[in-house]
Formats: sequence, structure tokens, C-alpha cells
Amino acid sequence: METQVIDQMGRGLRDLRISVTDRCNFRCTYCMPKEVFGAGYRYLNRTELLSFEEIERLVRIFAGYGVRKIRFTGGEPLVRRDLEQLIRMVLSVPGIEDVSLTSNASLITQERAASLYEAGIRRINVSLDAMDDQTFMAINDVGASVQSVLDGIAAAQSAGIAGVKVNAVIKQGVNEHAILPLVEQFRGSGVILRFIEFMDVGNHNGWDKSSVISSREILKTISEQHPLEPVDANYHGEVAQRWQYIDGAGEIGVISSITQPFCGGCHRARLSAIGQLFTCLFASEGTDLRAWLRDGSTDDQIDQRLRQLWQRRDDRYSEIRFTEPMANRQKVEMSYIGG
Ligand code: SF4
Repeated sequence: METQVIDQMGRGLRDLRISVTDRCNFRCTYCMPKEVFGAGYRYLNRTELLSFEEIERLVRIFAGYGVRKIRFTGGEPLVRRDLEQLIRMVLSVPGIEDVSLTSNASLITQERAASLYEAGIRRINVSLDAMDDQTFMAINDVGASVQSVLDGIAAAQSAGIAGVKVNAVIKQGVNEHAILPLVEQFRGSGVILRFIEFMDVGNHNGWDKSSVISSREILKTISEQHPLEPVDANYHGEVAQRWQYIDGAGEIGVISSITQPFCGGCHRARLSAIGQLFTCLFASEGTDLRAWLRDGSTDDQIDQRLRQLWQRRDDRYSEIRFTEPMANRQKVEMSYIGG
């Protein structure tokens, strides 16, 4: 039976993002810079990772709190072997209505798209930060072309995965020139394009407030070419603010963690690939659930501990980022828990 659990700010727990690997085939400079995640970096080995059965067990417990949506992230989730098997297992958990992915889409071939669709995937968020190869390759730092991502998106759509969103992180001096080319690429395509303000995630992306281009500036740039109007949120706590082209060419979104924090509606928890639970994207430490899964604890015992953990939650980093001393705060790496 489902019983809601509420944190210190009155927020329930509805979305669970699960990182299934710390590996990725890209080295995006704002997430997994090569200098840190280079050849000598020690990635997690298979026994350290939560098994599919352990993930399923945890999802069953989280479903008891009202979690309905699971998003698999990474690193790049498509590098985890047999991911489709895990998708089926999680979709068979009573209460779970939707399983989606966050991916760079470069590994989505026609065959892979078909197997993801068959496993139950209907939504994929794809990261694409520029339309010109020079900029995109400078960001992904592995020479991956824009076309490889567009091919992945096309393969997903032709396999029937209709819920494709493209996320673009815009950074001053890096890819602000990509805003309009991205808009032109996805207007009228059925793909929802979302612009993300550059965030101070992790500890290695060289974030500085001066490198942030606000959502307001991004919307102004777009609406000068294609007038926009606001659209109501799909649900309370939706991360992106929705806008649509007045000429009917579709929807775009902006995610404004820096200039318009949305912690008040944050119903998300994040699970790392080794089973550490983080109650905020900017958390310094997580809670080791893998130990509980492997020390003989019962589901009821784990359930009780998780309830207490969430009930103690008072995260609102984005609201206090500029008002409290944060300079020395060590934060979990985004590649470790996904966005
Ligand atoms: S900063 Fe933390 S609490 Fe605020 S919206 Fe992001 S993840 Fe949620």
C-alpha cells in the first residue's frame, strides 16, 4: 500500500533518477572533463554496481512512497549491458508508470531504438549543446559529430519513441551562438528543445556566475526571431518552464536553476550506480543503500530508514547558492548521479 513521505519543506518523493553506470563515451567539459576522467581514472567495477535485482528491489520500496517515474541516467546509461532487461524489470514493478532515459543518443542505432521501444521506453532526454561540429566536438571532447546525435534521435522517433526532448546547456563564450541553430533544427519536429542555465554541478566544471546566460536572455534571443508565449506546467514541480511558438511550431523549455530556482517543487531523489542515495543534485554526500541491501536488512527495515531520511530532507541548494558560503562545498559529480 502506498503511503506518501513528506520532507521538511512539504515535498513528497515522486521521481527517482537512477544512474546505472559512471562510464560514458563522451567527455563533456561541463560534466566529465578529460583532465579528471582520463585514461587513469578508476571507474566502478561490475561487483560495485547495484545489480538489476537490487535496483528492482529498491524501486519496489520507492514505489510505496508514490514514486511513479523512473529515469535511468549515467554517465551514459546505454553503455550498461542488458539495460533493456532492467527497464522491463522496473516497468513490471506495481505503481511504476513510466521509465525514461537521459542519453547523449550517439549509441542509438535503429536496432537499439527498436529494442528500447520494445522494452517500454517512450521518453528520452537527449543532450545536444550545439549544431556545429566544431563547437559540439569541443564540448564532448571525443570528436562525436552532431549528426551522430541527430541520427540517434531520428532512430528513436522512427522506432516509436515519441517523447524525445533535447537539452542544451548554454555557457557564455562557448555556445551561446548555438541557441538559434538549435531552435531552427527542432522547430516543428515534435522534439521539445530545452535550454539549461549552466550550473555549478560537481567540482570540476570551472563554473562562474559570469559564464551563465540566463533563461530570460535565451528566451529574448529566440522570441526576437520566433515569438513565444508561456504554457502552463504539466504538473506541480515540473523542472522546465514551458513556452510555445505563437506560430504553432511547437514547444520549448528553459531550466533556470541559477536565476529562478525551483527547489520548492523538487520531488526528486537520485541513486548512484553503487546505491548511494542523494536528495539533491548539489549534495555533498549520499546515503549508502547498497550496504542495507547486502547486510540482510529486510524491506521493511530499509523502508523505515528511507522514510526517516526523506522526512529529514531540507535541501534547497539553488535557493541559497548565493546567500550562504558555498565556495568550499564539495559536491557529488554529475557523471556519478546523472543530471
Ligand atoms: S538544488 Fe537540490 S533541492 Fe533544489 S531543485 Fe535542485 S536538486 Fe532539488
